Amino acid sequence: MSMAAGEYVSVKSQEDTERADLKMESDALANNRTGEEEELAAIYRERGLDEGLAKEVASQLMVHDALGAHARDEIGITAELGARPIQAAVWSAVAFSLGAAVPVATATLAPTAALLWLVPLLAIGLLGALGAIAAAVGGASPMRGAVRVCFWGSFAMVLTALVGRLFGVAG
Ligand SMILES: [Zn+2]
Repeated sequence: MSMAAGEYVSVKSQEDTERADLKMESDALANNRTGEEEELAAIYRERGLDEGLAKEVASQLMVHDALGAHARDEIGITAELGARPIQAAVWSAVAFSLGAAVPVATATLAPTAALLWLVPLLAIGLLGALGAIAAAVGGASPMRGAVRVCFWGSFAMVLTALVGRLFGVAG
């Protein structure tokens, strides 16, 4: 729940920013269409189009979908990549619950004497496997993905254990 709530708040504020940016653009388009068309042409010139073509592209896109063109090419917002807070929160909750189920099940089933090394070992092993899979799916190096996730996962566990020790929670 805390991961989902954190995700929701973070993506929601991103959505607020996007919405405010879009509002600003749509106001600018309503009040200063010529200036906005010049601005768009300047963006295309900067990306390598020559003066005439940049103007042509800008003027055609202003007719086709002015706000869409400004959102995409000026602020970098696309419909496909727009913030979706609820979706992000739900997937975060599902992913973290599934991930947490393994150490929790281990802690329930394994003999008490083995818990101290079994739970972290299994967690790090699974983190490595998931990191490798995620990297492979994205077309990156699985080894690098596994090492990165293992490193930061272990780092977080050690830090948590140290904080626990500091406050005497670990006994
Ligand atoms: Zn603009």
